[in-house]
Amino acid sequence: MNILVLNCGSSSLKFQIIQTDLERIEKNEDRQLAKGLIERIGSQSLVTFQVSGREAEKHAAPLRDHRAALDHIIRWIIGPETRIPGIESLTDIHAVGHRVVHGAERFTKSAIIDETVIHGVEDCIDLAPLHNPANLKGIAAARELLGADVPQVAVFDTSFHSTMPETSFLYAIPYQLYRRHKIRRYGFHGTSHRYVAYRYRQLTGKTREETNIITVHLGNGCSACAIKNGHSFDTSMGLSPLEGLVMGTRGGDIDPAVLELLHHKEGMSMTDIDNMLNKQSGLLGISGLTNDMRDLLEEAREHQDRRANLAINIFAQRTKKYLGAYLAEMNGADAIVFTGGIGENAAVIRQRICTGLDRLGVVIDDQLNSQMVGGKEGAISTPDSPMKVFVIPTNEELLIARDTVRSIQDLPRRF
Ligand code: ADP
Repeated sequence: MNILVLNCGSSSLKFQIIQTDLERIEKNEDRQLAKGLIERIGSQSLVTFQVSGREAEKHAAPLRDHRAALDHIIRWIIGPETRIPGIESLTDIHAVGHRVVHGAERFTKSAIIDETVIHGVEDCIDLAPLHNPANLKGIAAARELLGADVPQVAVFDTSFHSTMPETSFLYAIPYQLYRRHKIRRYGFHGTSHRYVAYRYRQLTGKTREETNIITVHLGNGCSACAIKNGHSFDTSMGLSPLEGLVMGTRGGDIDPAVLELLHHKEGMSMTDIDNMLNKQSGLLGISGLTNDMRDLLEEAREHQDRRANLAINIFAQRTKKYLGAYLAEMNGADAIVFTGGIGENAAVIRQRICTGLDRLGVVIDDQLNSQMVGGKEGAISTPDSPMKVFVIPTNEELLIARDTVRSIQDLPRRF
């Protein structure tokens, strides 16, 4: 089966086409056929398309909304020049898998999209006002352009964390606020944490029950997850992706009193404050330079920029603090797993996070660590380190494609 995986952001649309089925999943023989990204939807959009194994092609196009962006993608997929192996017409796309950010308490696993599911995702808009509407636009566009008989599946960022106990997910605010408005911690990046936990099991031969690890996703957004007996036990993002670790433009944990003070001292409205916390904080806020870790590392290295260095140090220390918290919550763990753009590529950040954890059983092999970049997968701890440390490149799209295949198995086949 060829699955079109869609990840719609507020002004972007990422996609992949993945060939997979139950047999390929079993044998780990899923194949990525093509991928692409459209940025700046709503104005002159930047388009990148790539058939696997060939050069990426880039161009600009005026795409006013998600429907126009998906239409552009579909025209490319079936265009005479494109020639994706196994795809000649739209009927060769057998299903669509969507990344949906917030599923709240309603969606504890992936769901075939029908009217009820759409209403359910709409009901979660209050909790994810930036993300869920974009996901819904993608769902509507796919339905319109591919036809209602092409099955679509929603895979939620939150659902992996639905196993968190109350002690992890409740905020210590009046309990009736949870009852009345479902104000609680949900966690995000669930598909990524779930994927790397699955790869960890494959690499080590452990069963799900035996999987006691801390996964650390460090990308533009960052989160850590304590995985106990194969299930999410605690995670650092909360009601929204603002909580927890320091990220590219989000500051993570903060005393709520700061918000009130900002309102009084700077005359900021709640919208201004929300914007500041989401878009102007984190690595960007501290350094005053950039949210991009690669550029920050270069500034710190080449120009000894004090605030670039400070941002990096705060980023590493906060991550370390969460590792400590989760090690205590879980009474130790077998492994720490790094993933995400920074976790997979920035050896120096992994080293800063892991240095000084030897009394907790973490010993990094510096050579292995510096080599484990650019999509490589494996251990970076010394052979006798009591706690293992792995780098495992994430692949949320693959998991979305697999969930899509599994979810629609009971539907009548179209091919
Ligand atoms: P997103 O969360 O948007 O998917 P990514 O997971 O791609 O983002 O992570 C983006 C981050 O990874 C950026 O801060 C980028 O600088 C960082 N990154 C990517 N490659 C490297 C590298 N070689 N060294 C350091 N940081 C890197």
